[in-house]
Amino acid sequence: MPRKKFVAGNWKMYTSLESAKALAMDIAKGLVGDTKVTVALCPPLPYLTAVAWAIKGSSVAVGAQNCHYEKEGAFTGETAPSMVLDSGCQYVILGHSERRHGLGETDDLLNKKLKAALAAGLEVIFCIGELLSEREANKTESVLETQLKGGLAGLTAEQMAKVVIAYEPVWAIGTGKVATPDQAQEAHAFVRKTISGMFGEKVASELLIQYGGSVKPDNAATLMHLPDVDGALVGGASLKADSFLAIVKAAG
Ligand code: PEP
Repeated sequence: MPRKKFVAGNWKMYTSLESAKALAMDIAKGLVGDTKVTVALCPPLPYLTAVAWAIKGSSVAVGAQNCHYEKEGAFTGETAPSMVLDSGCQYVILGHSERRHGLGETDDLLNKKLKAALAAGLEVIFCIGELLSEREANKTESVLETQLKGGLAGLTAEQMAKVVIAYEPVWAIGTGKVATPDQAQEAHAFVRKTISGMFGEKVASELLIQYGGSVKPDNAATLMHLPDVDGALVGGASLKADSFLAIVKAAG
Protein backbone atom coordinates (compact mmCIF):
# COMPACT_ATOMS: atom_id res chain seq x y z
CA MET A 1 0.00 0.00 0.00
CA PRO A 2 1.39 3.44 -0.85
CA ARG A 3 2.19 5.56 2.18
CA LYS A 4 -0.28 8.41 2.76
CA LYS A 5 1.42 11.80 2.86
CA PHE A 6 1.39 13.63 6.19
CA VAL A 7 1.84 17.40 6.53
CA ALA A 8 2.07 18.95 9.99
CA GLY A 9 2.35 22.59 10.98
CA ASN A 10 4.60 23.53 13.89
CA TRP A 11 3.42 26.92 15.11
CA LYS A 12 6.25 27.16 17.66
CA MET A 13 5.70 30.08 20.08
CA TYR A 14 3.56 32.13 17.68
CA THR A 15 -0.12 33.14 17.46
CA SER A 16 -2.59 34.41 20.05
CA LEU A 17 -5.69 32.61 21.26
CA GLU A 18 -7.87 34.34 18.67
CA SER A 19 -5.41 34.10 15.77
CA ALA A 20 -4.71 30.42 16.54
CA LYS A 21 -8.42 29.54 16.39
CA ALA A 22 -8.90 31.59 13.21
CA LEU A 23 -5.86 30.05 11.50
CA ALA A 24 -6.97 26.51 12.39
CA MET A 25 -10.52 27.16 11.16
CA ASP A 26 -9.27 28.67 7.88
CA ILE A 27 -7.07 25.63 7.30
CA ALA A 28 -9.85 23.17 8.19
CA LYS A 29 -12.25 25.02 5.86
CA GLY A 30 -9.71 24.90 3.06
CA LEU A 31 -9.45 21.12 3.40
CA VAL A 32 -13.14 20.20 3.47
CA GLY A 33 -13.62 17.09 1.34
CA ASP A 34 -9.87 16.65 0.85
CA THR A 35 -8.70 13.42 2.48
CA LYS A 36 -5.71 12.65 0.28
CA VAL A 37 -3.24 13.97 2.85
CA THR A 38 -3.12 13.59 6.66
CA VAL A 39 -2.91 17.04 8.24
CA ALA A 40 -2.07 18.07 11.79
CA LEU A 41 -1.61 21.46 13.44
CA CYS A 42 0.66 21.91 16.47
CA PRO A 43 -0.26 25.17 18.26
CA PRO A 44 1.32 26.47 21.47
CA LEU A 45 0.27 24.45 24.50
CA PRO A 46 -2.17 26.95 26.09
CA TYR A 47 -4.23 27.00 22.88
CA LEU A 48 -4.48 23.25 22.27
CA THR A 49 -7.97 22.76 23.67
CA ALA A 50 -9.39 25.87 22.04
CA VAL A 51 -7.93 24.92 18.65
CA ALA A 52 -9.11 21.31 19.02
CA TRP A 53 -12.64 22.58 19.76
CA ALA A 54 -12.55 25.09 16.93
CA ILE A 55 -11.85 22.37 14.34
CA LYS A 56 -13.69 19.47 16.00
CA GLY A 57 -15.33 17.26 13.39
CA SER A 58 -12.93 18.35 10.64
CA SER A 59 -10.28 16.11 9.08
CA VAL A 60 -7.49 18.14 10.69
CA ALA A 61 -5.78 16.70 13.78
CA VAL A 62 -4.06 18.59 16.58
CA GLY A 63 -0.64 17.96 18.10
CA ALA A 64 1.43 19.36 20.94
CA GLN A 65 5.03 20.51 20.55
CA ASN A 66 6.37 18.72 23.62
CA CYS A 67 5.42 16.71 26.69
CA HIS A 68 7.01 15.33 29.86
CA TYR A 69 7.78 11.67 30.44
CA GLU A 70 6.14 11.30 33.86
CA LYS A 71 2.42 10.63 34.28
CA GLU A 72 2.09 13.28 37.00
CA GLY A 73 4.10 14.82 39.81
CA ALA A 74 5.91 17.86 41.09
CA PHE A 75 7.17 19.08 37.70
CA THR A 76 6.35 22.76 37.65
CA GLY A 77 5.52 24.05 34.20
CA GLU A 78 5.52 20.62 32.58
CA THR A 79 2.69 18.74 30.84
CA ALA A 80 2.02 15.01 31.12
CA PRO A 81 1.24 13.00 27.97
CA SER A 82 -2.27 12.23 29.28
CA MET A 83 -2.90 15.98 29.64
CA VAL A 84 -1.87 16.49 26.02
CA LEU A 85 -4.31 13.77 25.02
CA ASP A 86 -7.05 15.33 27.20
CA SER A 87 -6.46 18.64 25.42
CA GLY A 88 -7.71 17.08 22.19
CA CYS A 89 -4.37 16.06 20.69
CA GLN A 90 -3.64 13.00 18.62
CA TYR A 91 0.05 13.84 18.13
CA VAL A 92 3.04 15.22 19.98
CA ILE A 93 6.26 16.51 18.42
CA LEU A 94 9.33 15.26 20.30
CA GLY A 95 13.00 15.99 19.69
CA HIS A 96 12.63 19.22 17.75
CA SER A 97 16.07 20.75 17.21
CA GLU A 98 15.01 23.89 19.07
CA ARG A 99 14.59 21.67 22.13
CA ARG A 100 17.57 19.39 21.49
CA HIS A 101 20.01 22.23 20.89
CA GLY A 102 18.28 25.15 22.61
CA LEU A 103 17.18 23.30 25.75
CA GLY A 104 19.67 20.43 25.89
CA GLU A 105 17.24 17.54 25.34
CA THR A 106 19.23 14.31 24.99
CA ASP A 107 18.49 11.05 23.20
CA ASP A 108 17.96 9.36 26.58
CA LEU A 109 15.45 11.97 27.71
CA LEU A 110 13.66 11.81 24.37
CA ASN A 111 13.50 8.02 24.60
CA LYS A 112 11.67 8.33 27.94
CA LYS A 113 9.31 10.95 26.50
CA LEU A 114 8.61 8.81 23.45
CA LYS A 115 7.73 5.75 25.52
CA ALA A 116 5.51 7.80 27.83
CA ALA A 117 3.70 9.52 24.96
CA LEU A 118 3.02 6.22 23.18
CA ALA A 119 1.88 4.58 26.43
CA ALA A 120 -0.62 7.41 26.91
CA GLY A 121 -2.06 6.82 23.43
CA LEU A 122 -0.42 9.68 21.53
CA GLU A 123 1.25 9.36 18.14
CA VAL A 124 4.72 10.87 18.00
CA ILE A 125 6.42 13.02 15.38
CA PHE A 126 10.03 12.32 16.31
CA CYS A 127 12.49 14.89 14.94
CA ILE A 128 16.08 14.15 14.05
CA GLY A 129 18.68 16.10 12.08
CA GLU A 130 22.28 17.16 11.82
CA LEU A 131 23.91 20.52 12.44
CA LEU A 132 25.69 22.26 9.56
CA SER A 133 29.08 21.51 11.15
CA GLU A 134 28.17 17.82 11.33
CA ARG A 135 27.14 17.74 7.66
CA GLU A 136 30.35 19.50 6.67
CA ALA A 137 32.35 16.96 8.67
CA ASN A 138 30.55 14.11 6.82
CA LYS A 139 28.85 13.04 10.02
CA THR A 140 25.22 13.29 8.87
CA GLU A 141 24.60 9.54 8.81
CA SER A 142 26.29 8.83 12.13
CA VAL A 143 24.31 11.65 13.80
CA LEU A 144 21.01 10.37 12.39
CA GLU A 145 21.86 6.81 13.40
CA THR A 146 22.72 7.86 16.96
CA GLN A 147 19.50 9.88 17.28
CA LEU A 148 17.39 7.00 15.93
CA LYS A 149 19.07 4.29 18.00
CA GLY A 150 18.97 6.40 21.16
CA GLY A 151 15.50 7.86 20.77
CA LEU A 152 13.77 4.69 19.62
CA ALA A 153 15.60 2.25 21.92
CA GLY A 154 13.34 -0.42 23.39
CA LEU A 155 10.33 0.35 21.20
CA THR A 156 8.44 -2.54 19.61
CA ALA A 157 7.49 -2.90 15.96
CA GLU A 158 3.84 -2.37 16.99
CA GLN A 159 4.71 0.89 18.72
CA MET A 160 6.58 2.06 15.61
CA ALA A 161 3.24 2.14 13.76
CA LYS A 162 2.46 5.21 15.92
CA VAL A 163 5.77 6.97 15.21
CA VAL A 164 6.50 9.36 12.36
CA ILE A 165 10.08 10.50 11.81
CA ALA A 166 10.71 14.11 10.79
CA TYR A 167 14.12 14.55 9.18
CA GLU A 168 14.98 18.18 9.80
CA PRO A 169 18.52 19.29 8.95
CA VAL A 170 19.12 21.92 11.63
CA TRP A 171 20.79 24.29 9.14
CA ALA A 172 17.57 24.36 7.10
CA ILE A 173 15.14 25.17 9.94
CA GLY A 174 13.89 28.73 9.78
CA THR A 175 16.83 29.77 7.61
CA GLY A 176 15.31 29.74 4.13
CA LYS A 177 18.05 27.25 3.15
CA VAL A 178 16.34 24.09 2.01
CA ALA A 179 18.01 20.70 1.52
CA THR A 180 18.49 19.84 -2.14
CA PRO A 181 16.33 16.98 -3.41
CA ASP A 182 19.45 14.76 -3.46
CA GLN A 183 20.36 15.64 0.13
CA ALA A 184 16.81 15.03 1.33
CA GLN A 185 16.34 11.74 -0.52
CA GLU A 186 19.73 10.45 0.61
CA ALA A 187 19.01 11.21 4.28
CA HIS A 188 15.48 9.78 4.12
CA ALA A 189 16.70 6.57 2.46
CA PHE A 190 19.32 6.27 5.19
CA VAL A 191 16.66 6.72 7.89
CA ARG A 192 14.48 4.03 6.30
CA LYS A 193 17.46 1.64 6.02
CA THR A 194 18.36 2.23 9.67
CA ILE A 195 14.77 1.60 10.76
CA SER A 196 14.75 -1.59 8.70
CA GLY A 197 17.84 -2.76 10.56
CA MET A 198 16.24 -1.93 13.90
CA PHE A 199 12.63 -3.05 13.39
CA GLY A 200 12.50 -5.00 10.13
CA GLU A 201 11.54 -4.36 6.54
CA LYS A 202 7.76 -4.13 7.13
CA VAL A 203 8.05 -1.35 9.73
CA ALA A 204 10.53 0.51 7.52
CA SER A 205 8.38 0.30 4.40
CA GLU A 206 5.31 1.59 6.28
CA LEU A 207 7.14 4.32 8.21
CA LEU A 208 6.23 7.92 7.36
CA ILE A 209 9.28 10.18 7.12
CA GLN A 210 8.55 13.90 6.88
CA TYR A 211 11.07 16.43 5.64
CA GLY A 212 11.35 19.68 7.60
CA GLY A 213 13.41 22.78 6.97
CA SER A 214 12.18 25.85 5.10
CA VAL A 215 9.41 24.02 3.24
CA LYS A 216 7.44 26.60 1.26
CA PRO A 217 4.72 26.37 -1.41
CA ASP A 218 7.33 26.68 -4.18
CA ASN A 219 9.61 23.84 -3.06
CA ALA A 220 7.05 21.53 -1.41
CA ALA A 221 6.01 19.42 -4.39
CA THR A 222 9.58 18.57 -5.43
CA LEU A 223 10.55 17.55 -1.90
CA MET A 224 7.40 15.63 -1.07
CA HIS A 225 7.45 13.56 -4.24
CA LEU A 226 10.90 12.14 -3.63
CA PRO A 227 10.68 8.35 -3.17
CA ASP A 228 11.38 8.32 0.59
CA VAL A 229 9.76 11.62 1.56
CA ASP A 230 6.24 11.16 2.92
CA GLY A 231 5.26 14.70 3.77
CA ALA A 232 6.54 17.70 5.65
CA LEU A 233 6.88 19.29 9.05
CA VAL A 234 6.37 22.97 8.34
CA GLY A 235 7.32 25.86 10.60
CA GLY A 236 7.15 29.40 9.23
CA ALA A 237 4.93 28.61 6.25
CA SER A 238 2.33 26.97 8.51
CA LEU A 239 1.45 30.31 10.11
CA LYS A 240 -0.53 31.52 7.09
CA ALA A 241 -3.51 29.48 5.91
CA ASP A 242 -2.85 30.08 2.21
CA SER A 243 0.79 28.98 2.27
CA PHE A 244 0.08 25.96 4.47
CA LEU A 245 -2.86 24.91 2.29
CA ALA A 246 -0.68 25.26 -0.80
CA ILE A 247 1.87 22.91 0.80
CA VAL A 248 -0.86 20.38 1.67
CA LYS A 249 -2.14 20.56 -1.91
CA ALA A 250 1.40 20.01 -3.20
CA ALA A 251 1.55 16.80 -1.19
CA GLY A 252 -1.63 15.34 -2.66
C1 PEP B 1 10.19 23.45 12.06
O1 PEP B 1 9.90 24.26 12.92
O2 PEP B 1 10.14 22.24 12.32
C2 PEP B 1 10.60 23.93 10.74
C3 PEP B 1 10.93 23.06 9.84
O3 PEP B 1 10.59 25.29 10.55
P1 PEP B 1 10.69 26.06 9.12
O4 PEP B 1 9.70 25.40 8.20
O5 PEP B 1 10.34 27.47 9.45
O6 PEP B 1 12.10 25.89 8.63
